[in-house]
Amino acid sequence: MPSFVITEKCDGCKGGDKTACMYICPNDLMVLEPNTMKAYNQEPDQCWECFSCVKICPTQAIEVRGYADFVPLGSSIYPMLGTEDVMWTCKFRNGLVKRFKFPIRTTPEGEANAYNDLKGKDLESDLLSTEEADGYQVPKPQATV
Ligand code: SF4
Ligand code: SF4
Repeated sequence: MPSFVITEKCDGCKGGDKTACMYICPNDLMVLEPNTMKAYNQEPDQCWECFSCVKICPTQAIEVRGYADFVPLGSSIYPMLGTEDVMWTCKFRNGLVKRFKFPIRTTPEGEANAYNDLKGKDLESDLLSTEEADGYQVPKPQATV
């Protein structure tokens, strides 16, 4: 289910040139309504449910309702962005709450280099770039009786 803005919580990023959700959305879906200074998802059916806007919103005004297969009705999942990690809060239908942290990239903006870790790797090899030659081998199929 696409992102939606809880208007009571949205402050329009205090009137900046570009709101945080507009800046981060990979599909340019978020826009700011200039009269009310509230953001909204202008094309919900194009939303990838990537949670980027949810994570970046400084007032926690955006939510994404997950699909029922991994977030059944009555449960919820919410990410809280920190400086070193994202804390995910998962609320189950029976009221059980579980939280887990997932580390985030801390490379300064604009300095990420996807190829840094690949220096010295043979990119022509059949192995995955992260796979060692003497590492994991695909098991041969076992004969069944
Ligand atoms: S990032 Fe949050 S507070 Fe800022 S405009 Fe978007 S929804 Fe509103
Ligand atoms: S969940 Fe992702 S794709 Fe959807 S509006 Fe937010 S940032 Fe854009």
